Amino acid sequence: MSLPHLSSADLLKSLVDCGRQFYERHWMEGTAGNLSVKLKQAPLEIAITPSGASKGSLKTQDLILLKHTPAGLRPPVKQGQTPVMPSAETAIHQAIHETLPGCGAVFHVHPVHATLMSGLFGNPKQRQMLQLEWIEMMKGIGIGEGEIAEIPIFPNWQDIPRVAQEVRQYLLQTPKAPPVILIYNHGLTAWGRTPEQARNHLEIVDYICQYFCWKRVVGRN
Ligand SMILES: [Zn+2]
Repeated sequence: MSLPHLSSADLLKSLVDCGRQFYERHWMEGTAGNLSVKLKQAPLEIAITPSGASKGSLKTQDLILLKHTPAGLRPPVKQGQTPVMPSAETAIHQAIHETLPGCGAVFHVHPVHATLMSGLFGNPKQRQMLQLEWIEMMKGIGIGEGEIAEIPIFPNWQDIPRVAQEVRQYLLQTPKAPPVILIYNHGLTAWGRTPEQARNHLEIVDYICQYFCWKRVVGRN
């Protein structure tokens, strides 16, 4: 599947815009979360938000370009400059971008309800599949009426390459998986062909998680 043509400048601007929107929605409190766009599939090139910075006030020059090298995804290092640190969770972005050629943007955020759902239904030591009763909004992440809605919840290994490897294996085994994963007591990651589609997927899963949290509160489930 080819990606829609968006210029690199448009893609970088969309990362900054999404960071501001998600920060204002309280999905990226403190310096949490990380957002990336794919600039090239092979060899992989992505732009990603920096580690330890608020995503509410980023500028395009704050974003970090990473290119595939024999040592992994690395920023170009210019002589005399201190290398900037990419997101701590770059390995997870890399796993999704590399495994899914049709993926153009990967967004990882910490909405309260999605994090609650990951803790209520996840397991700290092994992947769980969250199975949910179908609701209309699930159409927006490709789950039609009558289909089983399943979203994986991965353990929150502090060894992030281990999380990335488990995500990669899951995507290879489940190529038609919905474009979303949860990490136990941690947060939500969604992706799409474009930044706009990835943002839509985040919004839909946030809605779904709010819906099922509230359903528990009102005593129906
Ligand atoms: Zn996170």
